[in-house]
Amino acid sequence: MSALPEYRTRILLERENVPLVKGILIKIGEDHPSTLPRMPVYLKAQIPGATSRKKHGLVRKVDTREELEENLNILLSKGDWGQAEAVLITEGLDLKAEYYAGCMLDFGSREELPGGVLLFSKEGGSGVEGRSGTLLKMRFSLLHPPGSDDIEKELQELEGLKEHKAVSEFLKSMISTFIGYKLIVLEINPLGVLCDGTVVAVDCRAEFENSAVRKADMDVFFPPGIRSSKDLTELEQVVELINRDDPSGTGFFRQNRETPPEGALRVATNLCGGGGKMLWEMTTGSRTDIFTLNESDTSGGLSAFKSYRILMVILAQKNAQVLLLTGSGMAFQNQHHLAAAVWKALRESPTPLPSLLRFGGTDEDKARELFERVGGTLPVPVKTYPAVIFPNAMVDDIMDMARETAKTCKRYTPPEGEPVITVEIPPGKIYFYPERWQKDEIPPSVEACPTGFLKWDESALSMDPEARCIGCLMCETAALLDGNSEILIDLEIPEVVD
Ligand code: SF4
Repeated sequence: MSALPEYRTRILLERENVPLVKGILIKIGEDHPSTLPRMPVYLKAQIPGATSRKKHGLVRKVDTREELEENLNILLSKGDWGQAEAVLITEGLDLKAEYYAGCMLDFGSREELPGGVLLFSKEGGSGVEGRSGTLLKMRFSLLHPPGSDDIEKELQELEGLKEHKAVSEFLKSMISTFIGYKLIVLEINPLGVLCDGTVVAVDCRAEFENSAVRKADMDVFFPPGIRSSKDLTELEQVVELINRDDPSGTGFFRQNRETPPEGALRVATNLCGGGGKMLWEMTTGSRTDIFTLNESDTSGGLSAFKSYRILMVILAQKNAQVLLLTGSGMAFQNQHHLAAAVWKALRESPTPLPSLLRFGGTDEDKARELFERVGGTLPVPVKTYPAVIFPNAMVDDIMDMARETAKTCKRYTPPEGEPVITVEIPPGKIYFYPERWQKDEIPPSVEACPTGFLKWDESALSMDPEARCIGCLMCETAALLDGNSEILIDLEIPEVVD
């Protein structure tokens, strides 16, 4: 998944007639503007995927022409944050209220078709820790999106909101942009209300799947000369390789280019789905005591094999103190499979981290049960949360978790022995050790295979050529928990992570 900076998201919104705060864009090497909106103005560095820009000095208010020249030069130069694509100059507004609006893709489930989810809160702007209590969620069909009347009806639920009509018209156009450009996430924060009741997008960002971009829109999504692989960190390049080998689902990972504030807790994140990402941003966006080391999104039905490989990258980040994993609470990915991937990564990574894990979606209870069984065997403390717990409750625990030093229990070492059967499922190999399973009955590992790919015929393991391995890790998990480690899986990880 890739991210669009604000100025390119604005192009999409403008095309769908979403009202925006007025702005002038200055790209690197371009002349500074001779005419400007009335001072003061805001300068905003345009960096794909950047969040909490205000907190990090990438949004600056300037009052004079001199300040403008000086700050434009700084923001257009390479800094801790990397290289901005451009700087957007927007006028200062006298806002009556600031709201939050987001759209995200919900990949659906066996029972429910994929759709979109509209999120709206009366608590907008940065520093919005209290937003969870006022968040309105509205699921919508991508084929038959809601009209402004339907949205208005939902908005009536929100106490104290006065601009129902204007906001619902705005949200209707926002949904139309989200669907029209097949976005994964579209966020407007803040959505500003002017004194005359007009609503405008003050800041916005979007995330998208590269393969979903239409030819006609290539110039907005992939403008020539922007972002080459040279701009990627070593670990980001590893994730690109993982995605190239295994394009199923979303595997997005981007490291924070900024320097953590002194004393801030450095958190590695695995956020599942646009919802997980938004929830985390909403919870920690204003905090200077928590520094998010990376953005991430693993979602869209990716296999546990791929989740494990991306988790190994996330855990390999230098100076990370704690891992936080949270889904949106309605993940398409089976949470038991995801938990198997997390367990494997925590026991096999050379740099495991104390972990806070919030599972939400299919088999979330089984996911938590898994950690109840294995938590005590890991070299780091692990705490799990159900989907009903909002991430700000996890943040309350994060400091204590980080303070807990690594446990002294023995690191996991796989049992010795020679596998007799090796099944290649790129990028993995499944090894079977028959001497560890001498009984006639079917081993738990084979029984756990949900697709029937592994079979047990006359006391021997075989593979059903008609069935498929979906990379769920259930066979290895059952072998370790209920069998005798008769099946182990080796998943290829680029050297830099190992
Ligand atoms: S062999 Fe079966 S249980 Fe094992 S990873 Fe493949 S599908 Fe899952």
